[in-house]
Amino acid sequence: MHAAVSLCLACGFCCDGTLFDRVPLVEDELPLLSSVLQVAPGAHHARQPCPALEGRSCRVYAERPLTCRRFRCLLLEAHEADEVSLAGAVEVVASTRALRAKVAEALGVPDAGTVVEAARAPGVSQAAADAVARLDRQLAFHFLGQRSRRAR
Ligand code: SF4
Ligand code: SF4
Repeated sequence: MHAAVSLCLACGFCCDGTLFDRVPLVEDELPLLSSVLQVAPGAHHARQPCPALEGRSCRVYAERPLTCRRFRCLLLEAHEADEVSLAGAVEVVASTRALRAKVAEALGVPDAGTVVEAARAPGVSQAAADAVARLDRQLAFHFLGQRSRRAR
């Protein structure tokens, strides 16, 4: 198995709602993917956490959307450039997951990618706001750079 795939199978943040809240789709992808990705009538995106995510694997990997094929986070790029070992990259993923768990704990909700979205609702506690600010910095530094959370 390719090392990059090993990293992604240990992560899943670009599919589970941690980095993005949707997967944009092009018109040609709708006939094949709209059912499995549960695309709403008339929509051109799937919601995240992605319905095709099973554990940390993609059920439609061979036919995954162009958006998914193109996306490479900073950590994956650094790993592929041999700037970060697989163990080092997996450690970054683990520490990010630990930060996400702190957000979930502060919100009193189950830990999942959706906690990132929940933490942006009005009226969250200061503890949750602080935790999500730390998580946001980690996501920007290791995964997204200048990219916004909504745009791939
Ligand atoms: S966020 Fe990066 S490392 Fe994680 S699954 Fe996506 S591309 Fe792979
Ligand atoms: S289609 Fe596959 S690769 Fe794309 S977001 Fe969903 S689970 Fe991830």
